[in-house]
Amino acid sequence: MAARPLERETTVARPVSYDGRGLHTGRPSRVTIRPAPSGTGIVFLRCDLPRPVTIPASVEFAGMSHRATGLVRGGVAVLTVEHLLAAVLWGGVDNALIEVDGEEIPLGDGSSRVFVDLVEEAGIAELDRERRVLRVQTPAWVTRDKACAIALPSEGEGLRVSFTFVAAKPGMRSEHVDFEVTPEVFKRDIAPARTVGFEWELATLREKGLALGATPDEAVIVGENGYVGPARFTDEAARHKALDFLGDIALLGRVSGHFIGIGSGHALNHELARAIARTARRGMRRGTQGTGGAYSRS
Ligand SMILES: [Zn+2]
Repeated sequence: MAARPLERETTVARPVSYDGRGLHTGRPSRVTIRPAPSGTGIVFLRCDLPRPVTIPASVEFAGMSHRATGLVRGGVAVLTVEHLLAAVLWGGVDNALIEVDGEEIPLGDGSSRVFVDLVEEAGIAELDRERRVLRVQTPAWVTRDKACAIALPSEGEGLRVSFTFVAAKPGMRSEHVDFEVTPEVFKRDIAPARTVGFEWELATLREKGLALGATPDEAVIVGENGYVGPARFTDEAARHKALDFLGDIALLGRVSGHFIGIGSGHALNHELARAIARTARRGMRRGTQGTGGAYSRS
């Protein structure tokens, strides 16, 4: 059998910027993705502050904000990072410095598409160091109410994501998707799926001042009798939830395994990522890295 070709770490070939508005704050912001050296990972920089603050896209800084994933360090936040993070990492970029001149990442079209386009515009540059992958080696799972997020070992270095979008009301249709995630599959089948909105919640969200930036163009609206308005896929809601899951596990860096979500959302996804990070750290302390630990970097 031929040896697996050596995969090298990557970064963007040149800086690229995108301007837009945040989903929840409705405020304008600009993100700039810049090249970064091996070993950086993906790091955000709040460049609008008198003293700029860097926040690594790591599960240790992750929290929930307005039903989205936020990163907070020392009281400084970057909100709604998941669609951008997924596009950068699963689009093929290991290292990047992402400057943002406000608190919230722009919504784009509610999917990862604008960020995938941005990475393509930048181009991808190979770096010298061999790519490191965090491998799930024993099963891990977290549950809350009827939702569940699971990580299972998989063969090789691959990443597979399965997601079941569970019908919220009787008579509604559940959706299931299952993907072997490569950059091509991510860009074509997952990235274009838009944010999920429930028809019966939109008015309430607006009253609370949330979802100020969303219009029906930027969300797939799920109603009691199916989608309201045009959809990009017949299972767009499940695809978007898989996208959110991928954005959240990107907080572990490049990871391999089979990730399964059943009705899970950001909070549960973070819990799963934390469980994996904890076990990976324990494995490294015991010196079992790459062999007997529950999770290993290889
Ligand atoms: Zn999302």
